[in-house]
Amino acid sequence: MGFTLSRRALRVIKAFSSGLRLKILNLLLLRGQLSYTEIMNELKLNPVRDAGRFAYHLKLLLESDLIELDPSTKRYRLTDLGRRVIDVTEDIESKVSPHRRMLVRTSKASLEEFDRNKIVNSLVKEANVPLEEAQRVAREAERRLQRFKTRYLTAPLIREVVNAVLLERGLEEYRHKLTRLGLPVYDVTNLIKSASGRGVDVDSIVRSAGEKVFAEYTLLNVFPRDVADAHLSGTFHIENLGNWILKPDGFVHDLRFLFRYGIRFADTYSTKTIYPPPKSYEEALQSLVKLVYVTAGEVVGEQTLPHFNVFLAPFIKGLKEEEILEGVRGFLTMVNGIQAESGPGVLSIGLDLSIPKSLAEEEAYGMGGEALGSYAEFTDESLTLASAVMEAFLEHYKGKPGINVIPIVNLQKENLNSEDGLLYKAHELAAETSLPLFADQSKSREDLVYMASGVRFNCDWTGDWELDTLRVGVLGRVDLNLPRLYYDSREEGRRFEVLLDERVEMAIRALEIKYRAINQRGEEGVIPFLFHTWSGDRYFHLRNSIRVLSIVGLNEVIAAILDRELKYGAEEAHLAERILKQTVKRIEENAGVYNARVRLSAYPHPEAAERLARLDVERYGWSKVKVQGDKEHPIYTDSGLIPFSSDIPLKTRLRFEGLIQKYTGGGHLAVIQLEDVQHEPEELLSATITAIKDFNLNLFTYNLESTYCLACGNKSYGSPFKCPKCGSADTLIYYSRLFDRYLPLKYWTEVRAYHRRFYKKYKLKSEIKG
Ligand SMILES: [Zn+2]
Repeated sequence: MGFTLSRRALRVIKAFSSGLRLKILNLLLLRGQLSYTEIMNELKLNPVRDAGRFAYHLKLLLESDLIELDPSTKRYRLTDLGRRVIDVTEDIESKVSPHRRMLVRTSKASLEEFDRNKIVNSLVKEANVPLEEAQRVAREAERRLQRFKTRYLTAPLIREVVNAVLLERGLEEYRHKLTRLGLPVYDVTNLIKSASGRGVDVDSIVRSAGEKVFAEYTLLNVFPRDVADAHLSGTFHIENLGNWILKPDGFVHDLRFLFRYGIRFADTYSTKTIYPPPKSYEEALQSLVKLVYVTAGEVVGEQTLPHFNVFLAPFIKGLKEEEILEGVRGFLTMVNGIQAESGPGVLSIGLDLSIPKSLAEEEAYGMGGEALGSYAEFTDESLTLASAVMEAFLEHYKGKPGINVIPIVNLQKENLNSEDGLLYKAHELAAETSLPLFADQSKSREDLVYMASGVRFNCDWTGDWELDTLRVGVLGRVDLNLPRLYYDSREEGRRFEVLLDERVEMAIRALEIKYRAINQRGEEGVIPFLFHTWSGDRYFHLRNSIRVLSIVGLNEVIAAILDRELKYGAEEAHLAERILKQTVKRIEENAGVYNARVRLSAYPHPEAAERLARLDVERYGWSKVKVQGDKEHPIYTDSGLIPFSSDIPLKTRLRFEGLIQKYTGGGHLAVIQLEDVQHEPEELLSATITAIKDFNLNLFTYNLESTYCLACGNKSYGSPFKCPKCGSADTLIYYSRLFDRYLPLKYWTEVRAYHRRFYKKYKLKSEIKG
């Protein structure tokens, strides 16, 4: 280069040695391209008075090649040379004014000098921001950081500022990729607080913190924008987001698989047996405990053991009644412990009061996996076991209610008479513990499997009973906000249908994303039990799993459409039926695209009805949105069509429940609220027969609220303020049914607990017979 500069170089140096010209250069650096007028406006120059002076400076910059005019847009922009010049001037500035240097506290607990290039690099590497854009963003961020005048900067602070710049520039897509996933301090504090009030253990606090991070990750990086926005804005509610890409929601076991092959895990190279096929009744029960335990880690929510008493029947041949009962007692104690430990999941146990049609001729497996003839040959043993299980439940929960293990009593046609001893026993259990659910098996040719979470596995997918109902799961659930659909459609019928179609499509896409993610987790070996294979047969038939689309606020959308107090007559029924039919049709059409087993359900996540109602009130205003409850406790109806608080005859209620269950292949659990007194098994039994025969209910249960006293162990009905036996007030635990669970009120949300106080409770005798 020598000691003299070329004339051109000198011209460049002259060009940037003016305050105004440097301002123009920096402005173009930050804003990309600008027109003549825009630059003048930004610099707050007077278009008349300053025009001459401005033109002169602009010309100098153009002649020295620091800026250029884009011929197509007629706007000015920086050249490479111009950008270099700005770097040089900033370098000079930081050399002569060292106080402006910023220090960054690093994660290694040391201090480093701030380096803008690190921002540029991470924008390019982590978020694929084009280099030039990255440089602009980094520079702007640096300027803002300088204004803070803090002693030192931290990486999260820098990230926040960079994110703010990205947001303002409409570069939100990049911002999503750069976001640091985590929880605000405030949220973590609340998490601990809310847990301590409810006696939740440390592991579950850690787990919910982790789930929140995964939920954010899924919203930002897994879902397409429309799906994430739909969830966030309350168009629908995606359940268990924190596990969306990790685990299925629920699982239906096939005990025969376990009895034949033992418990195995897939590892990278082969399948390992960790528990051999059981050789005795005791071992069989132990291996079931093990089964529930390993699956609890791989499923978010419920596990079901269908045909429990039938599959286990071959193991009790020749045993004494007391031995059989003792085994079940031990089993109950163990699984109750596991479920309490492993969090939100419940275990449901299918009890068949006669041999299911589909199983009668099937090969029965007993000790060591040996084939022993058909299950029809074990009818006596099956019924003995069913009785023993109910007996054990009665003993276990008669005093203190249980919350984690739920018996589902399956009723065939021949069971539906008041002389059936087992049916009586099941209702004795219902009257004493409120635990069992009743499932109708009398109307279909094949046997269905019901889960306590309401999902019903019909023989309607491959057509093969085994493939359709066993070793399948509930993949995931999306809860559709029906009232929002109506408000967003500006109350036009045609537009309602179009939006319904769009939203169902989006929900099904979210479920397909989940399907692919779970499949991948399986391939990666992180769901090793469900994905282990034996002779080429994988335990989990993921493809046949049900994907659930649930509805929220059917009651409120009808109230909004009719715009009057609901009377639950013909008009309401007609409208409900129309909406349900439309939704089923949209589901069928859209699920066909993925060849996916998607089913409609009226059994949303308990969280959904609260969140969606709140969001709708925020969006459309209190006066417009129809909800249940007051301003502090808004909620949508999510259990059936009629709110539990409505004072209407039980028969009307059951008619609407039957109507909903007709269209909800994905399930619905009807709950019959009972008045706070001791009930005779006979009363419930006759109500059950009526519910099935006259009202076509297929899954239902009874709720008899009770209170348990920790001080004296007394159980009473309703929710008294003081223990009727010992008078103590602070030792009471109140129980009521929240969907599938008979749950202490301390686990309920405040809104739910508030609404519970207004439940209409029925006197069965007068309601059913009258
Ligand atoms: Zn007491």
